[in-house]
Amino acid sequence: MDVAEVAGHIWAKGWGERNGGNITLNVTEFATPDWATMPALAPRVELGMTLPYLRGMYFYCKGTQMRMRDLARDPMANGAVIRICEDCAGYEMIADKPVMPTSELPSHLMVQNYLIESGSRYKATLHTHPIELVAMSHNPRFLDSEVMTRTLWSMIPETLAFAPLGIGVVPYQVPGSMELAKATLEKIHDYDVTMWEKHGVFAVGQDIMDAFDQVDVLNKAANIYMCAHNMGFEPTGMTDQAMKDVQNIFHLPKQRPC
Ligand SMILES: [Zn+2]
Repeated sequence: MDVAEVAGHIWAKGWGERNGGNITLNVTEFATPDWATMPALAPRVELGMTLPYLRGMYFYCKGTQMRMRDLARDPMANGAVIRICEDCAGYEMIADKPVMPTSELPSHLMVQNYLIESGSRYKATLHTHPIELVAMSHNPRFLDSEVMTRTLWSMIPETLAFAPLGIGVVPYQVPGSMELAKATLEKIHDYDVTMWEKHGVFAVGQDIMDAFDQVDVLNKAANIYMCAHNMGFEPTGMTDQAMKDVQNIFHLPKQRPC
């Protein structure tokens, strides 16, 4: 299961201290008809909103208070499959155990609802705490999505190639709040990866490996930026023309590709 592999990478990279970070996957494509009638393992939980595109859908969600390093060993003991109720305003846990989903569920499900609404085939949402990217978000200069994106893209050509939509900055909001979910959703319209100021990133992907890879290449660029600063200079960065050439030669998408 990719989710276990990615959770292991997140732990190894130091991005998932204690219970930090969360993963949600749309697993509806794997559902068999009996999933619809499986008994709920615990009373229904209200979402606090209505998400009309999620009717009858199934999601694997990392459990609240669960550790990425434990999820890497056993995803089903540290997360659960939830079924969205017919009224799209609540959910039930159906497998394997009644593990309460992540406190960031509002962001995850609001974004999953948007992905379906917009016709995207993306299935994964990821929140994690990549060290260098979070450090950059403490500088007001990088709280501008364009400045942050341009700086990271200009470090090495591969950043642009493998994170072609860049990174959108979401101003600080209380973790787990509806305000954070709404601000994230707004940025997800244009970006696959968003930076939660002084907190972490929230990314979407075709699958969980895709979401992780995009965060990984952006964080690598942030690391190069910091290494240059540690050597005592502001990195020159690739020129605008050099970056445009990469975009054109590799026909990089400027919008979510699917
Ligand atoms: Zn977090």
